Amino acid sequence: MNRKLIAGNWKMNGLSADLQTIREIAAGLAVSAAAPEALLCVPATLLAEAARQASGTALRMGGQTCHAQEKGAFTGDISALMLREAGAGFVIAGHSERRSGHGETDAIVAAQARAAVNAGLTPIICVGETLDERLSGATLRVIEGQLAGSLDGLQPGSFVLAYEPLWAIGTGNVATPAQIAEVHAFIRQFLEQRFGQSGQSVRILYGGSLNPANAAEIFPIPNVDGGLIGGASLKAGDFLAIYNTAGALTV
Ligand code: PEP
Repeated sequence: MNRKLIAGNWKMNGLSADLQTIREIAAGLAVSAAAPEALLCVPATLLAEAARQASGTALRMGGQTCHAQEKGAFTGDISALMLREAGAGFVIAGHSERRSGHGETDAIVAAQARAAVNAGLTPIICVGETLDERLSGATLRVIEGQLAGSLDGLQPGSFVLAYEPLWAIGTGNVATPAQIAEVHAFIRQFLEQRFGQSGQSVRILYGGSLNPANAAEIFPIPNVDGGLIGGASLKAGDFLAIYNTAGALTV
């Protein structure tokens, strides 16, 4: 069984006053090798201070995107090395809000993920279908295309995947256990075909309106190795409740 990863995505939320939430989360984590790994992907402006305040605890910090190039004339962008230097261990790549709002294609996502790995970060690569794609029966074909295009040049052990149906992100409409089980099994099969047995060790997170009330139903689903959590990661109590649910299922 893969060690579960409970990852928060703060998106464009978080000022210095919110470092208190980070301290509360860090203080509430279990300290054991079997406990889930806990991660917060915070705005770049908070990263260095958040990492400093979380140092010595089990809480890991991450960025939310990075550029594919190491450095250069890319006004407003941030490189993987910059995130690493600021204290990140992970970075989200290809979140649907970046794919749709910033034109990030599978090829760009793969290049960002490779840049992250080269900088010593673990990319969390997101895939997921729109509501129209699900309703037209195209879900698995869409996921397969995103996986085929977004994993170019990556090896198992260096990245994490997140299945995030777009219609479930920030909507309160969580995917059903059967829908999650089907897509996660499909992703696992894809990974095994591509990487052989090592495909089993790639962690696959579920994301989309995960909260303390539905976590106990989602984490036991086969091939669900944790969660990527938006809204509920902004409250220490909610994030810790989700983390503790995952932890209780691990022991
Ligand atoms: C996300 O942004 O990755 C996400 C899953 O958000 P939420 O939990 O708010 O649906």
